[in-house]
This record gives sequence, structure tokens and C-alpha cells, in this order.
Amino acid sequence: MPMFDYRCARCRKLFTRIILKDPEKMTISCPECGSTDVERVISAFSTKSSQKIHASSCGQGGFT
Ligand SMILES: [Zn+2]
Repeated sequence: MPMFDYRCARCRKLFTRIILKDPEKMTISCPECGSTDVERVISAFSTKSSQKIHASSCGQGGFT
């Protein structure tokens, strides 16, 4: 699953969010101060590895 790193513009806290839907439509808030003024940090390794995702796993819930 896609995970993105974010940095809070207010307190500079770095945190990671798992993005299940379109990240542009999600409201990301800082877990430290609650500010929504966050910027996405692009990490090279996670964007490369997420290029190949098995299409068969889409839509199957892993919850028990
Ligand atoms: Zn913050």
C-alpha cells in the first residue's frame, strides 16, 4: 500500500500516512500540533517500489 511522508510546516514534525485513496482529496493533519499545513516529502525508494502493484490484490479486504 502507498505510504507518504509528510512534514508539518508549523512544527517541522515528520510523519507517515498510509494513503488509501487519492492523496489530493485527503486532508492530512499533523499528529503533533494538528495543523493541516503540511507538505509531502517524496522519498525515492517508496515511489519506485510502488510502481509494480499486483492488480489482483485490488478490492480484496484483508480484515478478519
Ligand atoms: Zn505540527
